Amino acid sequence: MRIIVVGGGFAGLVAALQAGELGAQVTLLEKGDRLGGSLVYSSGYIWSYKDLKIFRQEVPGGDVALQKLILQQLETGLSWLEARGAIILTRETGNPLTIGARFDPEQIVAILVDRVAASGGRILLGTALDDLVEDPEGCIGGVRVVVSGKARKESSDAVILASGGFAANPDLVRHYMIQGPGSMRLRAHPWSTGDGFLAALRAGALASTGLNEFYGRNLPAPPAHFSTEAFVEVSQLYGRHVVAINLNGERYADEAADWSETALVQATAHQPGVRAWYVLDGAALRERIRGRTVGEMVKAARRVGGKVLQAEGLKELAEKLAEQSIPRENVIRTLREYNAAVASGRGNELSSLRSEPATAVRTPPLTAVEVAPAITHTIGGLAVDTGCRVLRRTDRQPLPRLYAAGVEVGGVSVGGYTSGLATALVFGRVAARSAVEALHNLHVSNRRG
Ligand SMILES: Cc1cc2nc3c(=O)[nH]c(=O)nc-3n(C[C@H](O)[C@H](O)[C@H](O)COP(=O)(O)OP(=O)(O)OC[C@H]3O[C@@H](n4cnc5c(N)ncnc54)[C@H](O)[C@@H]3O)c2cc1C
Repeated sequence: MRIIVVGGGFAGLVAALQAGELGAQVTLLEKGDRLGGSLVYSSGYIWSYKDLKIFRQEVPGGDVALQKLILQQLETGLSWLEARGAIILTRETGNPLTIGARFDPEQIVAILVDRVAASGGRILLGTALDDLVEDPEGCIGGVRVVVSGKARKESSDAVILASGGFAANPDLVRHYMIQGPGSMRLRAHPWSTGDGFLAALRAGALASTGLNEFYGRNLPAPPAHFSTEAFVEVSQLYGRHVVAINLNGERYADEAADWSETALVQATAHQPGVRAWYVLDGAALRERIRGRTVGEMVKAARRVGGKVLQAEGLKELAEKLAEQSIPRENVIRTLREYNAAVASGRGNELSSLRSEPATAVRTPPLTAVEVAPAITHTIGGLAVDTGCRVLRRTDRQPLPRLYAAGVEVGGVSVGGYTSGLATALVFGRVAARSAVEALHNLHVSNRRG
């Protein structure tokens, strides 16, 4: 049985290895010039919420069947990875809501690549899926690929799409997420331009919910300049300690709505100029988040050329923001309203309500950091069942011989965020097992027939 896996990120490598171990003849297609996708930039935490109750509370709009699948399969997935030589660095996730493990991304990529090759897998770099090919019975019978500008066909008995969604497609990002003019920086590798997603839609696949949502971070806004290796270091991950104002000097979101700050980052994508200012005070600079102080994160923004303003009081900060074209009176009104509301415990009466922690911005120095959202990956994608079989638009039944894994699977994190590495690990293995099982059953029934 021949299985093509499209994409050599974490989901694709896991699917390729699992399928190879189950006896499939695997071809792994990778558009880029290296393997590992976004895993190589990641912090290496593969995690899940502790139970379904917390999962639903944190990610209320996500597909509950797929969330249960992650909960059921994460531990066996981690053990599978460990049994293949991946070294667990720690079992601490640093978040009381989650469980999981931290690995060294480079090491995982190295062992998976070695094992895929050892299991007889064929790995083709610089080979991009261009389209899916249907056989005369309407089943997916292979792919059309483009190598050095030339197209050719690769036949197979099943295809697993793991090409990472469409974060690197500026037109789709503008259409679905920004929903207006502007663009977002990419906080990921550059190759996931939606090839797999769009090819599946052309073949009749159903798109999931959440196409307008994304996982990302607010980073120092341009002219800040930094390399892909600095994605984690420059992240401005302290929204819950700030007042976020847009270019009109107005609040636009509940800055502390969720721990991952996904809601705040998504709301920033809808603001004029696709950017905002984080305003915070001296007390906030001393807060610690994931082993760093907020002050250190602000310093990182300044170091890479981001705009950071400081002042001793509100009026002086408003003057400095006015020099950046933010209306002075609006800044003063917004911050005074906010301070008065949270000081009297009425944060939930503000027009953009404010969850806890909600403290007044008072202690000097007052700081303002210009931020812009950057997209790590899409949250919407292809609709699948719990076998990671891609569903058909017309009848919501599986599209024969087409599977999806990782970011390509949409709808799991709608309304929140869950570990992209866990979805890659769990869905990569499930997709491979489903594909092999279906091909095995087909083979048996053909022999009987
Ligand atoms: C800075 C940073 C930190 C992160 N930290 C964490 C963390 O600690 N924990 C966590 O859970 N998640 C984290 N993530 C997210 C996580 O890395 C991703 O969710 C995960 O790696 C996605 O894996 P994937 O295989 O689904 O997609 P990708 O990694 O995007 O892989 C898709 C692959 O498909 C290839 N491809 C695209 N189009 C084609 C085509 N047409 N033909 C062939 N190949 C194609 C791409 O080149 C790529 O190699 C982080 C991400 C970043 C950027």
